Amino acid sequence: MTNGAVDVRAAAAALAGRLPNELGFLAEIAFNYLWSWTPGGEEVFRSIDPHRWELCGANPVRLLQEASQASLERTASDAACLADARRLFETIRTDLDRPAASIPSPPAAFLCTEFGVHASLPTYAGGLGILAGDILKEASDMALSLVGVGLLYRQGYFHQRVDPSGWQHEYWTETDPDRLPAALVRGDDGRPLTIDVKIRERTVVAQIWRVDVGRIPLYLIDAERPENNRVDRWITSRLYVGDRKFRLAQYALLGVGGIRALHAMGIDPGTIHLNEGHVAFAPLELARVAVASGADFHTALDTVRRRTVFTTHTPVAAGNEAYTGSEVLQVLGDLPEQLHLDAKEVLALGRTRPDEEDEPFGMTPLGLRVASSANGVSRRHGFVAREMWHSLYPDGTASDVPITHVTNGVHFPTWLAAPMRELLDEHLGDDWLRRADDPAAWKAIDDIPDADLWAVRNILRRRLVAYLRDRAAEDRLGRGEHVEYVEAATRAFDDEVLTVGFARRAATYKRLHLITLDPSRALRLLEQSVQLVLAGKPHPADEEGKRLVQGVFELKWAPHVAERVAYLEDYDLAMAQRLVAGCDIWLNVPRPPMEACGTSGMKAAINGGLNCSVLDGWWEEAYNAENGWAISAHPTRDLDAMDAQDANRLYDILENEAIPLFYDRSEDGVPHGWVRKIKASLRSVGSQFNATRMMREYVGRVYPR
Ligand SMILES: *Cc1c(COP(=O)(O)O)cnc(C)c1O
Repeated sequence: MTNGAVDVRAAAAALAGRLPNELGFLAEIAFNYLWSWTPGGEEVFRSIDPHRWELCGANPVRLLQEASQASLERTASDAACLADARRLFETIRTDLDRPAASIPSPPAAFLCTEFGVHASLPTYAGGLGILAGDILKEASDMALSLVGVGLLYRQGYFHQRVDPSGWQHEYWTETDPDRLPAALVRGDDGRPLTIDVKIRERTVVAQIWRVDVGRIPLYLIDAERPENNRVDRWITSRLYVGDRKFRLAQYALLGVGGIRALHAMGIDPGTIHLNEGHVAFAPLELARVAVASGADFHTALDTVRRRTVFTTHTPVAAGNEAYTGSEVLQVLGDLPEQLHLDAKEVLALGRTRPDEEDEPFGMTPLGLRVASSANGVSRRHGFVAREMWHSLYPDGTASDVPITHVTNGVHFPTWLAAPMRELLDEHLGDDWLRRADDPAAWKAIDDIPDADLWAVRNILRRRLVAYLRDRAAEDRLGRGEHVEYVEAATRAFDDEVLTVGFARRAATYKRLHLITLDPSRALRLLEQSVQLVLAGKPHPADEEGKRLVQGVFELKWAPHVAERVAYLEDYDLAMAQRLVAGCDIWLNVPRPPMEACGTSGMKAAINGGLNCSVLDGWWEEAYNAENGWAISAHPTRDLDAMDAQDANRLYDILENEAIPLFYDRSEDGVPHGWVRKIKASLRSVGSQFNATRMMREYVGRVYPR
């Protein structure tokens, strides 16, 4: 077998060699991310050496490589620690030993440029990647047969540092894959298995890493090979690298190389799931294989199309990457020739109007053309995508365009904080997570005593406040702020105060600036007992996004801001887990219709946070007047007027509805009206916006049989 399974086992065995005998099995746990969504998993590793756990970025392989013999010996002789670890091991083994559901069959291949599995694996930037990670985890929980295919970025996505003026600076750190829970896939001869892809006149050689995400292998292609020159090795350096030609080279390496890697490992996938247009070259490689064995291109593509499904995530034309003909031909190497196509025919595949030679080559039109099924990621996004791509399907009206939708959902075991999960475990019955997509499973929410639910909310807010004080002080020290301002962070925030959160990729359309659009009203909210936590990283090339972040900092000397507002630097998955758990209100104010779906609000909702959001993306589907607040979405051409109107509605909601409801306490100290809203939100969001429902839809309705 050359699919990397033995290589992961060998890497775990090598790591076990440095551990005391009693702890040897921990190496096996460390090499499968299943620990990260199994209750108690993190605690087992943290307890070995809490300080080093932080230093290692919660990466258990690094922890076990670096932990001192003394702390390992101490753990080995601590009966309670050992028992917890043993229990975790048994839980994980039992899960991995379950029989497979044998669907889809043969296994589906899920291709994406980013996978957000865990903060310690730097292969993601934002929502697209986190969704891909959640899909792998859910596929594992449902025992589906699926493999993930992506790129191993040696420098990942950038890290963010903000200076005292609020301006973002970027830096990158080098990842050493030997310290990741990853193993190089080796051939029968023991040497790394490699594939070749011709890009820009040169043969780029790539190797393959395997990362186990529960039962699902994630294969990551890596151009860091001695055969490649420095420039070609750079192809897998950074996620969403600034230079468009490198980005396109990444798409060729992932699309074409990804399929070659699967074939080299003896994996012949059934369904090919293209997650966003970046990976849309993959079906061309499958067609090449068919053409090589004698088929003509069109017959080959028809056959490939039948097994290909495409998910689009981008509701604005400008967000769909497009390239010139020569850029595309350069990265495709000899593929057109091997497909028996001339340049014109290849380029026509990426245009909405095939004969329009001036039209650039779009990855999304290509994806739509090479797939037999296409979907957007929320009901509203389905509408938007049908309108947007109407020109590809000129017969009929926009509603006839064959793009459906599968609304995103989130992987609850990843996003539920432990206290909330324990409360739901207690009330929703055994195995409720496997029935999370059944509304009946959520009926029992109504029977949870208000005081118990409120107690969990208080615990989660308190934890967030402690984290926030520490992080905000650290950030301010790092920025070189005045000591008074740093000190304010250590006293900042209050365990009892209504906590509002906004964190996401700080792309311009997410309208971070709405929150402070009317500074006097925004500051008045702070006086009225609101505290606000913000985070988000604009793309390095997004000057406007960076200016919006800076705009928030302009208010930093205003009264109350130092104690009541924190902008946390370097947003990532681990920070997201804390923010979505602890905030009472989760804000989302995208400029409609630009939010394809949005998922962080779902994560907040299942932890008992309430959404206050523009009726765009998923919220248009989820909002029912009882489960949160809505800002209506009336796109207009006058963007400033729309911003002002939406900001005013936001302030109105907070001032007139949310603040009074939150502080309206009965004698028992519980805000029953608020808790009623939480329950409505848990019921409605819980049963609909989970990854279980999403994956059942993909497998049952979208994937070909
Ligand atoms: C969930 C998540 C996102 C996506 O947030 P949106 O609501 O879609 O904007 C982005 N980044 C991280 C780290 C996340 O966890």
